[in-house]
Amino acid sequence: RTVYVNGAFLAEDDAKISVFDRGFLFADGVYEVTTVLKGKLVDFEPHMARLTRSLNALQMARPVGEAELRDIHEKLVALNELDEGIVYLQVTRGIADRDFAYPADAAPSLVMFTQARPVVDNPKVEKGIAVMTVPDIRWRRRDIKTVGLLPASMAKQAALEAGYGDAWFVEDGLITEGSSNNAFIVNADGAVITRQLTSDILHGITRDAILRLAREDNITIIERPFTPGEAENAKEAFITSASTFLMPVVAINHSTIGDGKPGPISRKLRQHYVDAAFASIGE
Ligand code: PLP
Repeated sequence: RTVYVNGAFLAEDDAKISVFDRGFLFADGVYEVTTVLKGKLVDFEPHMARLTRSLNALQMARPVGEAELRDIHEKLVALNELDEGIVYLQVTRGIADRDFAYPADAAPSLVMFTQARPVVDNPKVEKGIAVMTVPDIRWRRRDIKTVGLLPASMAKQAALEAGYGDAWFVEDGLITEGSSNNAFIVNADGAVITRQLTSDILHGITRDAILRLAREDNITIIERPFTPGEAENAKEAFITSASTFLMPVVAINHSTIGDGKPGPISRKLRQHYVDAAFASIGE
C-alpha cells in the first residue's frame, strides 16, 4: 500500500514518524475518515469543515490548504486503486521535546492512508447488529475528533467479547452515541430521535446527511437524548458513520428492538443515503 506522510507518497514500510511526534506521546492529533465509492470521495467538504473545527479547537496549525488536501486524497485513492473503502487523514501537532505545553514552533504532521472495505454491500446490513450499553468514560470534548480513542476501543472490545456488534455509551442514564457512530431510535409514531449536538457527542457528518434526507422524506426528527429503556421499546434503531453509512440496530443488551429485523424507516433512510452518495459522485 502507498501511504502519505508529510509531503511524500511512500510504500507503507518506508513511511516514518518520529517517536517525539505529539500524536504518539499525547494523542495530540485529530483525524477524519472519508468514504470512497467508485474511487470518488463522499461528503468531502463537510469532513474538511469538521477537520478545521477540530484544529481550531486545539489551536493546531493546518498543514496544507483544503484544495491540496483534496488533491492528496485523490492521488492516494488513485495510487492504491481504491474502488470502495475509506481514506484516513490524521494531523498531529508535530515533533517536540516531551512537554505538556504546546510547543511554540512545531510543524504539524500530516498522515494519510486508504483501507478497502465494503460500504454499500456490507453483509451485516441485512441482519443488523446488537449493541451493548457501557458507561461513557470519555472526556468532555467529544465534539473534537481526536485520536485519543482508547475508551472507544475498550467499549468496542467489551461489546465484541460479550457477543455484541458494538457498544452504545450511557451517561447520566442517557445514551450519548456509539463507540464510533451516532445513535438513533424510531418511536411508535415513526419519528426519528437522536441526541442534539453538544460537546457530549461527535457531530457526525453522516448523522447530518441522514437527518437532511429524513426531512426530505417528511419524517419527524426529534433531537434529544434517549434512555436505554426507550431504545429497548423503540420500533427501530440504527447507527450512522462514514464507514458504515447507516447500520440497523436490532437489539440492545438482552432486549430485541421491534421485531428483531432491520425496520422500514432504517432501510428507507439507508437506501436514500446510498442513492444520494452515488448521485453526489455522478453515478
Ligand atoms: N461518533 C463517534 C464517537 C465517532 O467516532 C464517529 C466516527 O468516527 C461518529 C460518531 C460518526 O461520524 P461520521 O458520520 O462523521 O463518520
